[in-house]
Amino acid sequence: MIHFVGAGPGALDLITLRGWRLLQQADAIVYAGSLVNPELLQYARSGCELHNSAEMTLDEVIAVLVRVHRAGGVAVRLHTGDPAIYGAIREQFDRLRAAGVPFTVCPGVSSLFAAAAALEAEYTLPEVSQSLIVTRMTGRTAMPTQESIAAFATHGTTMVIFLSAGMCQAVQAELLTGGYAADTPAAIVYKASWPDERVCRCTVGTLAECAAREGIDHLALLLVGHFLGEDYALSKLYDPTFSTAFRQGKQE
Ligand code: SAH
Repeated sequence: MIHFVGAGPGALDLITLRGWRLLQQADAIVYAGSLVNPELLQYARSGCELHNSAEMTLDEVIAVLVRVHRAGGVAVRLHTGDPAIYGAIREQFDRLRAAGVPFTVCPGVSSLFAAAAALEAEYTLPEVSQSLIVTRMTGRTAMPTQESIAAFATHGTTMVIFLSAGMCQAVQAELLTGGYAADTPAAIVYKASWPDERVCRCTVGTLAECAAREGIDHLALLLVGHFLGEDYALSKLYDPTFSTAFRQGKQE
């Protein structure tokens, strides 16, 4: 059996209890060494095989997983954050299905939530932003054309931009092209939840300058939108005059 496990954003205690138990049971762990906190491997039992997928091809990863399963063992494929966000898991699922190897998926805390926690921010503020766009800049991985940062920026809502800290100048230009004003609040969160986490607040107009000044070009999220500003409306849910299925509102 193979278990795909979300390792969480970095802090050791931000893996789920289920993920932690699976790590302890594994005969082999294939971990995404470029991002997963290696200290999580201390939960592996002695004798567990450890493989760093940063140095492996898809074929090599699948070969380890299939071999362990066919020998009657349990393998964990440990992905950073939540495996469903830029995890390259679909290609692994399809290969395992084709090989007749069963697997489960254990979710994790995405860095997108660790970054919000670091900022003490809410992505969905009443009357400010009720939608969250999770995206990235075009890199070596091509993007569908209607998904450019500039196209998404036209919505003016909350944006969390992955895999793009090394391209802040281009991100900034696209955000401005798409219609965000230069003074729209923005932030860069480096290594959210790690001991060396850094939170830098800036604006769309100063995003690139901020990244350069802080020397941040990888392992960071770029966050944009008025959810980082001062203004918002109070939620209806806790409004004393608003009735819900659980509470009768009082008329003033
Ligand atoms: N599945 C992961 C994302 C993998 S893509 C998740 O759910 O978080 C790798 C990108 O995620 C990095 O380039 C960076 O943009 C972001 N990232 C991953 N961990 C991070 C962290 N702790 N702090 C900030 N950004 C992080």
